[in-house]
Amino acid sequence: MGWKAFVLRLGSAVNGKFSQLIFLLSLAYAVAVTQSCADLFSLDSLFGKTSMEDRVSDSLSSAIVTRTISHPTGAYRVVAVADSHVAGSSWESGERLAAWIASTASSSTPVRALLIAGDLTNSATEEQYAAVKSVLDTVASSAVAVLPVIGNHDLYTAAGWTLWKQYVATGSSWYPSVGYASFVDSSATETLRVQLMDSADCAVGSTQLSYLKGSLTASAPNIVLSHAPLFPGYDNSIWYLESDYERLSILQSMLGGDAPLYITGHDHTTSVISSGTVTQVIVGGYCDNRAMLVITVDPTAGLSWALSTVP
Ligand SMILES: [Zn+2]
Repeated sequence: MGWKAFVLRLGSAVNGKFSQLIFLLSLAYAVAVTQSCADLFSLDSLFGKTSMEDRVSDSLSSAIVTRTISHPTGAYRVVAVADSHVAGSSWESGERLAAWIASTASSSTPVRALLIAGDLTNSATEEQYAAVKSVLDTVASSAVAVLPVIGNHDLYTAAGWTLWKQYVATGSSWYPSVGYASFVDSSATETLRVQLMDSADCAVGSTQLSYLKGSLTASAPNIVLSHAPLFPGYDNSIWYLESDYERLSILQSMLGGDAPLYITGHDHTTSVISSGTVTQVIVGGYCDNRAMLVITVDPTAGLSWALSTVP
């Protein structure tokens, strides 16, 4: 039994006014803990913040929920980072990331996309969103797509979702936060799908579960990009999807399709764990050590990946 369930059961298992007080305090604490993944220290989590289901329907109603990214035939790379937590009006380490991506353009395996597994900003202020956009606008081009998913810190203000749509989910290279990107080469072969999930609340909901199941394809390998891990990292942290049903549903969908890689963040500590054909990689916080996961997409050899850091 998890300790959250324990404090709830402690209250409900006994009678009397004192016990009821304990129960109410336990309930309030459990709510706070549940919210901690989303927004522990802000009343915005209870008043005014867009709900996950609202964000999902908002995203799925967007015209850019699915997008085709065209690229020349041959191998290429996709790079993933997580938890940039941009806290000021500039993002110096992001500029290094942008420069490194640009430096691969003339290599035999150029970077075609930057995946960001949430918490782009530290506290979802407009200044931070502007700093993120300033850097990522230099990355996004006809040759490099930018595919971000939202994290809990990107919703730390009541305006977080509005700012996300204004600064992140805009432009031809951007996504709302839910949907998928289909990479198609010049011979019309689909080479990769990146599935984007909103797990900023450490939950994904039934709409996203069925959407994921329906959009996984066997014609190309799928990568699932999501802020909250399916499984806890090496330190057995509490930072992962809260519902066992949702975790198993996602795993089952990935095992049933050609979906070998679940890329995630939130935990800030790099870890790799596999279950059957599915590997989860928690990419360590970019804000801490500029960690990145580099995936090579080779039409003949398939997917391979390696952990690295931005020089
Ligand atoms: Zn997070």
